[in-house]
Amino acid sequence: MQTKESQGIVLYNKDFREDDMLVKIFTETSGKKMFFVKRARKSTLASVIQPLTQANFLLKLSDSGLSYIDDYKEVETYKSINEDIFKLAYASYIMALADAAISDNEPDPHLFQFLQKTLTLMNEGLDYDVLTNIFEIQLLDRFGVQLNFDDCLFCHRKAQAFDFSYRYSGVICPEHFSKDERRAHVDPNVIYLINRFQNIQFDDLKTISIKTDMKVKLRLFIDSIYDEYVGIHLKSKRFIDDLAKWGDIMR
Ligand SMILES: [Zn+2]
Repeated sequence: MQTKESQGIVLYNKDFREDDMLVKIFTETSGKKMFFVKRARKSTLASVIQPLTQANFLLKLSDSGLSYIDDYKEVETYKSINEDIFKLAYASYIMALADAAISDNEPDPHLFQFLQKTLTLMNEGLDYDVLTNIFEIQLLDRFGVQLNFDDCLFCHRKAQAFDFSYRYSGVICPEHFSKDERRAHVDPNVIYLINRFQNIQFDDLKTISIKTDMKVKLRLFIDSIYDEYVGIHLKSKRFIDDLAKWGDIMR
């Protein structure tokens, strides 16, 4: 066992035996790990082992077995996300995506910081649909999926009214539409935005604004990319899809 201080975000917890709990934390320095908390509800840790809690943890880490939480400070509970069922649903989904994208015990500080930054911006009130789309697009790489939305697969010209080809796994320009008679017929603006999302800096985000009909098209296209190339089905994603169906009534 080694003792280490690290930032961490609680992904989820589950009951274990009578009063104990297992808590999955994505730590910045050691990746995702499972922590054992004895008598969890009565423990001094009770408030920091809820999902979507971030803290600077003092941890006792095991390479293979369960790890332990010794202490914590600087807790962030993402209050505005927790107070809004929509934000909470999207935040839960991106945490589940991050969980699915990498193996346990493998450090990925870059993904940790990306998740932390995305949650912070969601908490600050930036558009959660757009933040989620950016997270999904930039995460493709972690699932071993590399797609080029920047230039035509055949002539490498940029900035065209591109369509997507599942056959060739990339974009094609109008001159090369004939190469794939079953091209996806995606709105070229969707491809333009996804190409931007792939490289976007968070500072640019504050200026981005996307209309509802374009958001719907983005959602559909990203869903089909995930179906085709990633193939995971998360419960938290189904919840978002259900929310969208009756969301208009609540908004
Ligand atoms: Zn071309």
